[in-house]
Amino acid sequence: MVIMIRDDYNIERFEIDLSMDEILDNYINFEKTEKLCRKCRCHSNNWTCPPFDSNQIIVWENYDNIKLILLKFNFTNKARQKQFDESEIMEYAFNLHHGEKTLIEPELKKLEKQLNGYYLTCGPCVNCKTCQRLTNGKCIMPEKRKYAMEALGANVIKLSKDFFHLDLQWIKNNTLPEYIIMMVSVLY
Ligand code: SF4
Repeated sequence: MVIMIRDDYNIERFEIDLSMDEILDNYINFEKTEKLCRKCRCHSNNWTCPPFDSNQIIVWENYDNIKLILLKFNFTNKARQKQFDESEIMEYAFNLHHGEKTLIEPELKKLEKQLNGYYLTCGPCVNCKTCQRLTNGKCIMPEKRKYAMEALGANVIKLSKDFFHLDLQWIKNNTLPEYIIMMVSVLY
């Protein structure tokens, strides 16, 4: 169901509640995702990205259930015809994810409270303009920082495919694909 229309895309929303037992063994593997994280510019540069300053990955085991929320951004034909250069498209994708993440976070905070849970988001923490990790400092808001599911070992590709029947699409040749997704969750 389309829940929102923006200039370049519309948004569909999908949601499912699962028991943690259903995902722990087959969908959470920190060693595997950490290897992929190493290719990202945020690895070692943000306190919500590996390697961590404390054992964050045990968080999965502290909860019995998970609410997965997947947003699918379907680009318009006009947006898909736009030719970006490499830095422009990276900036576009970052701004899209960051903007949409900011919009969904109040709901996640509410759910976290209602369910006495803990929410996971997507992408690195942007609470500070520059993460203190880049200046070799300690995190200045550890109670406010939130982790991306994939940073803690979630296989978002497999979760999308198995529970929402969606194959992920990627930006290629500096143009937008048919859609991209964003997955967030609340552990409870
Ligand atoms: S709160 Fe600031 S220092 Fe802590 S992880 Fe987020 S950006 Fe980095």
